[in-house]
This record gives sequence, C-alpha cells and structure tokens, in this order.
Amino acid sequence: MIRVGDAARAPAFPVAARRALGNAQLRRNVRHATDVIRNKRAVVVAEMSDWQDLRESAHQIKDHVLQHLDVYLEQFEDNCTRAGGRVHWARDADEANRIVIDIIHGHHEREIIKVKTMTSDETGLNAALEAAGIVPYETDLADLIIQLGADRPSHIVVPALHMNRTEIRELFQRTMKLEALGPIGTDPQDLTNAARAFLREKFLRVNVGFSGANFAIADTGSVCVVESEGNGRMCLTLPKILISLVGVEKIIPAFGDLEVFLQLLPRSATGERMNPYNSIWTGIRGGDGPQEFHVVLLDNGRTTVLADEQSRETLDCIRCGACLNACPVYRQTGGHAYGSIYSGPIGAILTPQLQSMQHSTSLPYASSLCGACYEACPVKINIPEILIHLRRRIVEEQGGPLGERLLMKAAALAFADSSRLSIAQKLARAAQWPFKRGGQLSALRGPLAAWTASRDLPAVPAESFRDWWKRLRPDSHEPLRGAKATSNSGGGGAPPR
Ligand code: SF4
Repeated sequence: MIRVGDAARAPAFPVAARRALGNAQLRRNVRHATDVIRNKRAVVVAEMSDWQDLRESAHQIKDHVLQHLDVYLEQFEDNCTRAGGRVHWARDADEANRIVIDIIHGHHEREIIKVKTMTSDETGLNAALEAAGIVPYETDLADLIIQLGADRPSHIVVPALHMNRTEIRELFQRTMKLEALGPIGTDPQDLTNAARAFLREKFLRVNVGFSGANFAIADTGSVCVVESEGNGRMCLTLPKILISLVGVEKIIPAFGDLEVFLQLLPRSATGERMNPYNSIWTGIRGGDGPQEFHVVLLDNGRTTVLADEQSRETLDCIRCGACLNACPVYRQTGGHAYGSIYSGPIGAILTPQLQSMQHSTSLPYASSLCGACYEACPVKINIPEILIHLRRRIVEEQGGPLGERLLMKAAALAFADSSRLSIAQKLARAAQWPFKRGGQLSALRGPLAAWTASRDLPAVPAESFRDWWKRLRPDSHEPLRGAKATSNSGGGGAPPR
C-alpha cells in the first residue's frame, strides 16, 4: 500500500490551515525559526560566487539520473552487494516495513536506534515496528522531541520547529524520567545534556541501527548521511546490524557528484558551510562497524511520479527545507496544516503525486505562486510550474466545482471576442454596485464568495482600456500597435486601472 504518513486521512489544507492560524504561539515559533535559518543561509550563500552554477549542475545531475534511473539503481545494487551489503526492493510502504521487521526478528532483536529519516515517517515504520513488538528510539534531538510528545513533524529539516525551549523542557521533564539530573533548564546546553543522558545508554546497548540516506552512490555502492549532532554517527557505527531505507530517487551516479551536493545541502538546509558529520560507508568491513548491512530501496509511488514528464523533477528534491523557509504560506501556517510529513512547497507537490492524486488534492492550491520556493531551491525545481500543472491535472481528473467551471467557460467566451468582452464589462459594472466599497468588491455571494473571503477584488473600472484609448485617439482602431507613452502624451488623463 502506498502511504505518505497519515496524509490520506488528513483534513483538507484550508481546514487545517485555519486551525493553525488560530495558534499565535505556533505562528511566533515558526516565524522566528524560519527567520533565523533564512538569515544564516543568506550569509553563507552570498559567499559562493558560483552558487548559480552549482544549482545548475545539481539540476542537471538529477535530471540525468531520472532519465537513467533503472541503470543507476542496478549499478548501485551490484556495487553495494559486492562490498558485502544486501539490497532489498520494496514496492510500497507495507513491503518496506515488512522487510525491516523480518530482518530485526531474524536476529531476535526487540529494539532499534534510528537516525533521522523522513522516508521511515513516510512508510509509518515506527507504528509498524511497535505493532510487531519492536521499540524504535529516535536519536535525532528534534525527532526525539516529536516521538516523546507523540507529535508530528512540522518541518523537513527542523521537525520540532513549532516548539520553543520552555515547551521542550516541560516535555523532557515529563517523559525522560531523569531524576538523577535534577530539574532540567531551558538553555540549549541543558536540553542537550538531558537528551544525551537519555540516549547514550541506548547507543551502547541496542544492536540494530536504522537510517535513511541523503545520497546513494551508484559507482561505489556507498550510502551517505549528513547530520549536525553526531547521533547519526553513533547509530551508523556502534550496532552490529545496520538497515538503511532509501527512496529510489536518492541515487547519484558517481562519488564525485557529492562535491556539488555537499556544498548545496548544508548551506540551504541549516545555513552551515558544511555539515559537522558526513558519514559515507560502503558495505561492511570485518571487525569495524556493523557486520551486517541492508539497504531497502523504496518505490512507494516514486515511479508514478517519474512517469509524468512535466512534474518528475519533483524527485530531484534533496530535502533541504529551503523552500519551506521562503514560502509565505508555510511561514504563516507551519507544517502540520499540510497533513503530511512533507510540508511546505515541496510537500504541496510531492504528497499528492505519491498518492496518485487520490488524496491531498487541496495541497497544490496552498501557494500564492510567488516563486520564492523556486529561487530558494538548490536543485532548481520549478515548483510554481509543477503546482500549476497539478492544478490542471486535478481539474481534468476530478472536475472543478460546477459554478467555477461555468464561470471559466463564460470567461473564455468573453475574452475571445472584443465586443462580447465589452458587453460583459458593461453587465459586470451594473451588477457590482451592491458590493462595491472604495474601488474594491467585498463579500460577493454564491459561487463567487470565495474570491472575496480573504482577498481584495478590484471593482470593474468605470472606463475600460479600449474606451479610454478610443477617447484618447478617436481615429485609431488598433489600440496597442504603435502606441507611445500614454499617460504623459497629452490629454486624456491616466489610463484606467
Ligand atoms: S524542493 Fe528544493 S528547496 Fe524544497 S526541500 Fe526540496 S531541494 Fe530543498
């Protein structure tokens, strides 16, 4: 079964967003956290004279991979197997979870320690493990906060960004039971010390480690994970058995390609020049690190996304979160409103596609199409264009509301002929007077009500451009050809707006 967390059961975006907008603390937390990351990112990006070239290179590498994905996946499998790893293929979330559980049960283990991985959130792995009698421990500080609070991530890179330090301190006091430490403070150092005391014993005891991957490298069969805390390094090196769940789109052709991505990712994600911990491993090595290594390659709807040429570049995403921090919609609502572990602009295009457009079809409309996400994206995914493409698909596959469809047909008829347009403008001018307030229309009724519920709609002006032009140049029949400056051309006044 293709699953993207609980997205299939989530309320539509407008409903969830309205709820989020009512939470002033959440909005303050999200605004503060995204401002901090954006400012840090701006500084380290400005240092790079070749930033745009790096973006273009990353885009081209990813495009090339998607065109030859089958070849690179098989190359990765061959090289990883040759180095002592075992590669499994999972069609969907259930199959991936089953493979992971079977490996753990095969070793009679009952606990795993996890590096931050969105892909396992996508498959609902933790719930599946618990149902199978296996206890997962999140070790990334933010993911640990989410797990202890039975919460949901609100950001791709900073999952607990919606919580402030006081809220986290209270959560730790309530759930960690670290009496020996005494009362926990709200300083970052105090919170880190508490998490360290809670996790250290698990790092040393648990025999199965679990990770996702930032990149899987075809020509060496290696897997790469980047992180900031060092918890990942502990999970990747201390346990006897290591399992990595990797979306098929994480493949890059060659080890040398990391040069591009390891410059783009940390700067875009956390405003760091380099991640403090970059772990790259290839199969197993006797007497050093895990002695059994499994890679589960996950499809879960990705090949369906690949099949749509106009939106397949969605799979280029390296999960840096820069588009979230730049997005005026996300910055108001936070991540929970998206109902998916993938939030913000990338969530708005990825989640509906992974679900074959059967759920979450309100998400492509969760955008002002301002283009800030495209400018921020280090791999140049044209998110606004994909949003429009998905909106078109939704209308084609599901049809829009009847009122909207009739209105669009009428608009198409009017705009196709100047005399019809003129008649429509006259009718609109006459019909708008009950709703007109100072040049704006407010509180329209019926199927048009949504237009004015949360935005201004300018009134139809008293004079159309064509009428104004005729008045200005009575002899001219072609208003746009050969037109010079208008408002200062003498007489006629300013053009109507
Ligand atoms: S779409 Fe681009 S900016 Fe957004 S998370 Fe993915 S790589 Fe980062």
